Order: sequence, then structure tokens, then C-alpha cells
Amino acid sequence: LHNQVQELKGNIRVFCRVRPALGDEETKTAELAFPDADTDSKEVVVQGPDQKSAMGTVTKANNNFSFDRVFGPSSQNGEIFDEISQLVQSALDGYNVCIFCYGQTGSGKTHTMSASDGMIPSAVTQIYETAKSLEDKGWTYSMEGSFVEVYNETVNDLLGKAEDWNNKKHEIRQDPVKLKTTITDVTTVNLDSPSRVNAILDQANRNRRVAATQANSRSSRSHSVFILRLIGENSMTGERSEGTLNLVDLAGSERLAHSQVSGDRLKETQNINKSLSCLGDVISALGSGKDAKHIPYRNSKLTYLLQYSLGGNSKTLMFVMVSPLQAHLSETLTSLKFATKVHNT
Ligand code: ADP
Ligand code: MG
Repeated sequence: LHNQVQELKGNIRVFCRVRPALGDEETKTAELAFPDADTDSKEVVVQGPDQKSAMGTVTKANNNFSFDRVFGPSSQNGEIFDEISQLVQSALDGYNVCIFCYGQTGSGKTHTMSASDGMIPSAVTQIYETAKSLEDKGWTYSMEGSFVEVYNETVNDLLGKAEDWNNKKHEIRQDPVKLKTTITDVTTVNLDSPSRVNAILDQANRNRRVAATQANSRSSRSHSVFILRLIGENSMTGERSEGTLNLVDLAGSERLAHSQVSGDRLKETQNINKSLSCLGDVISALGSGKDAKHIPYRNSKLTYLLQYSLGGNSKTLMFVMVSPLQAHLSETLTSLKFATKVHNT
């Protein structure tokens, strides 16, 4: 198998996507400058917030950010998939790949990951078609999918029985020799047909609805991880490959002030803040070339789960998703700064 993926700088890339204004939001947008649809741009400029000079004049700060790629609001899911299909190919070639969507609630993470033309269905279709085209070269692939959420530092099986959620514990087990992670008692689905992916996404949503009174807020308060294990064997050459594709829809990154919440909600908020900053810490530590022993994977369930898909020989892509709205300006700047830190490691 040939892997045509261009060498990734530090194996970590960061893309930015600005979602469009929807419906009556048109009049409420912030001043964001992003590339035209067909340019290969890497810059996004955010105007504001207002700054008062010593003389009392008000100007707007000009915040420039650059990433490996910036997708403006007219970009479509299909166009985004074209940019990541090589990473999906890498998983077939035996690499471990992680793709994250990071951003505040409402910025377009789930649309990018799980819409019918989103990354999860498109990745499964591509893998299925590629595997089929490799059959006459002797390759047989098995494709196994799991879908879990990490909520309050607990792993739940989105494809299991919702009523099991409170009594079935799922442990993360690491095999440091094979560099392989397993989750105990997790449901694994054989993705022998690409159409099964729709049933999986539906089931996950049904489960969330049963497990939480408000499925929407629950999904924005938890990380969901779609894990696809791809094992290929070649009957002609005896070659074997084992790769993993992790597609991660992160919890909303909006920072709730601790003073605004209490009880369960406070614990939730602390766990989200902790796990997102831990993800940033792990990526920074990887970028600084630290020894694997000193990467703080164990500081959160999410990074522990993804340990063997972050760093080493693996490939990581983070999408920072931003809203075009003026009301979200401050969160937009916070998200872009987080992503810049990740990008510069
Ligand atoms: P998040 O998962 O980050 O909370 P969603 O993906 O649910 O955000 O997006 C919020 C809303 O915006 C949804 O109604 C979604 O369908 C819509 N949306 C997001 N991105 C796009 C896009 N690129 N094109 C059209 N609609 C979008
Ligand atoms: Mg969402």
C-alpha cells in the first residue's frame, strides 16, 4: 500500500471552519474576514472587540489567525471531506488517526461530523469503496466501529443499551506492547456495508435521548468518539495492516463561570474544562518533542482513551469551528487562540 499523505508538520494539523449565518442571524454577524470559497486560504481575521485608547477614541482590535486551512461560511461538508480523505486513507494504510472538532456549542461540530454528508458517513463510504477496490490485489479488510461518549470522566457505550448506562462500567485497557486500546464491554459493530453507519448514528442519538432528559444539551456537554478499527490482510503477499480512525466531536468549549453554576452542573463544567485543557496540554507536550513517558495522557479519560492515536506515528487533525455571530465574538477569539496554541506546537 502506498501512503501519499504529505508529511505533516509534527503530525498535527489545524483547520478552521466558519459556519454560515442561519435564518435571521444574517443581521447579527461579527466582522470576520475569511477566504473566498475557492481560494486556498490560511487566514481568518476577526475584528473587535472595541478598544479605547488613552485619548478616548474607540477602535477595533484586528485579530489575525492563521491555520493550515481556513474554510469560510459557504464551504460544504463535501469540500471539507476532500481535504481529509488522505487521512482516512492513512488509517487504511495502518496509521492511527484522530480528527477532532473543537468549538463552542452551536459552532457546527456535529454538522461537520455527523450530518448525512459529514465526516463519519463519508469516511465509512470511502473506506468501504477503497477496501473493495483493493480486493483484487489480495486485500481483505475488516471494519469494526464503536461509538462512545465521555461524560463526566465516564465512558458510556452509545451503541449499547441506554438502561445499562448507570450500571455497566467501561474501563479503558491499554496494551503498551501492541499499542492497542480496548474498552471493556463496549459494543462493536461490523461495518460490512456503508449504509449501517446511519443506523449507528440513529442508535447513538436514541441512546442519548433515553439517558438524558435533554439530548441536545447532553451531547454538547460530552465528548463523542467514533472509533473505526481497520484490519487488512493480504492473501497474496502476507502483509497485514492495523489502523484506527477516531472521529471526535468534543464537548462545547464555552467557558461557564463557576459562579454561574452549582451542583452537578458545576462538576460537569469542571470536567469539560479539565478535559479540553488536558487535550491542549497533551498536544503541546507532543509538539515540544517530549518523551512519551512525560506526555500527560492520564490526566483525562479522553486523552487516555486516545493515547495511542495521539503522538508517535499517528496523525492528528483539529478543526476549530467558529460561529459568525457578534454575540459569540469573545468565544470565537478564545477558540481561535486555543487552536493557535495547538497549531504552533
Ligand atoms: P455544535 O455541534 O457545534 O453545537 P451544530 O453542528 O449542531 O453545532 O450546528 C448548530 C446549527 O447550525 C445546527 O442547526 C446546524 O445544522 C447548523 N450548521 C452548522 N454548520 C453548518 C453549515 N456549515 N451549513 C449549514 N448549517 C450549519
Ligand atoms: Mg453538537
